[in-house]
Amino acid sequence: MPAEIIDGIAIAAKVRARVAEDTAALKKRGVTPGLTAVLVGEDPASSVYVASKERACKEAGMNGRSIRLPASTTEEALLAVIDTLNNDPTVHGILVQMPVPKQISEQKVIRRIAQQKDVDGFHPFNVGKVFTGDVDGFAPCTPAGVQVMLAEAGVETSGKDAVIIGRSNIVGKPMAALLLQSGKTANCTVTLCHSKTRDLASHTRRADILIAAIGKPEMVTADMVKPGAVVIDVGINRVEDPSAPKGYRIVGDVHFESVREVASKISPVPGGVGRMTIAMLLANTVRAAQLTLEG
Ligand code: NDP
Repeated sequence: MPAEIIDGIAIAAKVRARVAEDTAALKKRGVTPGLTAVLVGEDPASSVYVASKERACKEAGMNGRSIRLPASTTEEALLAVIDTLNNDPTVHGILVQMPVPKQISEQKVIRRIAQQKDVDGFHPFNVGKVFTGDVDGFAPCTPAGVQVMLAEAGVETSGKDAVIIGRSNIVGKPMAALLLQSGKTANCTVTLCHSKTRDLASHTRRADILIAAIGKPEMVTADMVKPGAVVIDVGINRVEDPSAPKGYRIVGDVHFESVREVASKISPVPGGVGRMTIAMLLANTVRAAQLTLEG
């Protein structure tokens, strides 16, 4: 029997509805959650992401704002913009769209954002909180979204072998940290694989929960998956397809059609994790606004 689909669109809509409710409650207390996205340069994909974040904020009743700076912006000028946002009480979340032009240090930018406004969860302070299991921190949106998907899909994680392919700071490593903690939708035995892992399939075939965050189109094939495993595909890859209206289509890191025949549950691409990332960004921003009331 083909795997059950873990529907990221429906789960993200649920998260966003909860965000809208929390936003309405905050507004009654005089606080409108505000997210400001800063985009440096004119990268078309980044521009689309920033516009969709702004739109999503507005749909949830939040203040969504974007600041667009030229590609020639100096590091000093960008840090000054961040300082202004750090000091603006109407801004609860700050996001600088990555990558930034090469004259700007990504690490300096990440470290300059006030940790209580770091809704991307990239500041070392929040990274540390996630790794130490301190739930007060902001977890990066994509792995946090995967955890919500597992919970909503009713996946039992406790004691399970979770294998993650990809060790980036924004997906793989925080994903490992979240699943490793003791707590709800966690308590996994985690294996983190990367490009230097020997015999990748010997690891993936042990996985009760397999998470692919590689950036290689359809790399995970059915022979790499244990029958009955839960498979979450984080990958977003553009592949040429002359028959598609735009000349390309979007696929994940998992070969969906074949793996679907082996797995018990699977998240598709598109319609999976991608939808969760923005939803979790809104959720983090609302929580940042709530925290200002708690002092
Ligand atoms: P990175 O390029 O930063 O990391 C990719 C990871 O995959 C690296 O750790 C790399 O290993 C590993 N890797 C590459 N090739 C292999 C291989 N052949 N075998 C095993 N491991 C391999 O990517 P990101 O983590 O930023 O993103 C991963 C994917 O997820 C991309 O497709 C991206 O577009 C997508 N993504 C989707 C999001 C969403 O909202 N759904 C959000 C963020 C990312 P090494 O470290 O050794 O180089």
